[in-house]
Amino acid sequence: MAYIVTENCQGCMFTDCVAVCPVDCFHGNPTQDKMIYIDPEACIDCGACVPECPVEAIFADSDVPEGQKQYTAINAERCKSGELENITAKRDPLGTAEDKKKKLGF
Ligand code: SF4
Ligand code: SF4
Repeated sequence: MAYIVTENCQGCMFTDCVAVCPVDCFHGNPTQDKMIYIDPEACIDCGACVPECPVEAIFADSDVPEGQKQYTAINAERCKSGELENITAKRDPLGTAEDKKKKLGF
């Protein structure tokens, strides 16, 4: 099992999640992907990142909502691609983050 970053992260990247991960699972390339991903091979399933996300983008892989199941493979593939950097500290969100958050109703 692993935790998965899903659609709500797209265009947001608040990165509150990153600061609590005990094993530095998060990877991203902000200019390219506009979201970040969890490396399923590194994730220890602690769940600490879930309540940190202001837009509820993170789910256990068994709980990923219908219509977003593709993100399980996307997280794994993007982390394996070698195109992402390991993100281990909170960063400024994308310029679109607050608008996206409002649109999602958070
Ligand atoms: S806190 Fe949520 S929206 Fe922000 S980067 Fe993490 S998963 Fe994405
Ligand atoms: S569940 Fe734990 S180990 Fe996995 S990404 Fe979240 S904080 Fe990191």
